[in-house]
Amino acid sequence: MLDVKGLDVRYGRTHAVKGVDLNVAEGEIVTVLGANGAGKTSLLRALQGAVRPASGTISLDGKELSAASPAARVASGMMLVPEGRQIFVSMTVHENLQMGVYLRSDGDVARDLEAVYDRFPNLAERRDMKASVLSGGEQQMLAIGRALVGRPRLIMLDEPSLGLSPLFVSRLFDLIVELNKSGISILLVEQNTTMALDVATRGYVLELGRVVIEDSAAALSTNTALTEAYLGGG
Ligand code: ATP
Repeated sequence: MLDVKGLDVRYGRTHAVKGVDLNVAEGEIVTVLGANGAGKTSLLRALQGAVRPASGTISLDGKELSAASPAARVASGMMLVPEGRQIFVSMTVHENLQMGVYLRSDGDVARDLEAVYDRFPNLAERRDMKASVLSGGEQQMLAIGRALVGRPRLIMLDEPSLGLSPLFVSRLFDLIVELNKSGISILLVEQNTTMALDVATRGYVLELGRVVIEDSAAALSTNTALTEAYLGGG
């Protein structure tokens, strides 16, 4: 469904993403691994439309989106859950979820909000509280819930496990699998290599902006060079 070809991202003299080819088929969980500064966030921001690539193409179901606005990409079904969650801490849980609705003109938004509360009872209990009272794990659930309200077909997650307790990390990965089973394709950027490869079908390893390895998750998890480089998985 997602097809990226020859993607380059530059910030002035910094060439952050270099000729990246990547695809996500319908129903897949694809992970992008790599050290800090490898270009993972830049790749996702180019896919989201927040940065304009220097060259390359991005298409979703054959529809060229490289010049589309972030809003148009969301409307096409691509939703980014950004690094650091970026929820609005001075707004309530409910108001944060409503932010996920603003691009929707279709359907029963109230029902979709309720579906998010059904999935995350902790959020339902706290719907009128400021998001600042949530734990890190709950804030991550809120960020994912906000994306779900937009009815995505592809969710892109930027280091969702960062800073979470081991319990929440394992809940998060269970959730990723559940979302995938419900029909959402996933592009998962992670430093937690072990967990990411556990849930993914395929993976890409980025080094200094380039894809240096592309393989099945099973093959990547037995790739000694990779496991040595990222031992413990962050
Ligand atoms: P991290 O895990 O730390 O987020 P990353 O793999 O996501 O790392 P990027 O954040 O995409 O990597 O950064 C790739 C390169 O681009 C780095 O050299 C970084 O310093 C540079 N870079 C990122 N954002 C900008 C920016 N807005 N302006 C200039 N250089 C940037």
